[in-house]
Amino acid sequence: MDNCLFCKIVAKQIPSTVVYEDDDLLAFKDIHPHAPVHLLVIPKVHVSTLSECDASHTPILGKMLALAPKLAAEHGCAVSYDADGKPQGGYKTLINSGPDGGQEVYHLHLHLVGGPRPWRVQG
Ligand code: 5GP
Ligand code: ZN
Repeated sequence: MDNCLFCKIVAKQIPSTVVYEDDDLLAFKDIHPHAPVHLLVIPKVHVSTLSECDASHTPILGKMLALAPKLAAEHGCAVSYDADGKPQGGYKTLINSGPDGGQEVYHLHLHLVGGPRPWRVQG
């Protein structure tokens, strides 16, 4: 897609810090991180927004979400349990859709935000 920032990142026309790549997906560091870990997981194929997805997108959406725990573990923010069984660590996965959803870049992306708090954006 011409003039799509994330398609240009996929094509390596714009540099990014890539943390994962396969035939279908690219994951890279957000340029303005909200937390110690802030990654974006995107499909290599251009999809503008989650709002345009339907059942045909189930495989790519599943791959994007399934990648999150692997990346979280690699970046030190997986959920773990202390000796008392209390959960610790963790991260947030988020897809913003449309202006009211806070979407700024119209190429589907999953935010993975985590690491020790405080974060720049709470919630
Ligand atoms: P949105 O608000 O659309 O859900 O999120 C877009 C995200 O893309 C923002 O968190 C923003 O910081 C990130 N972003 C915007 N431009 C670039 C860029 O050129 N490189 C990288 N790595 N991230 C970007
Ligand atoms: Zn695109």
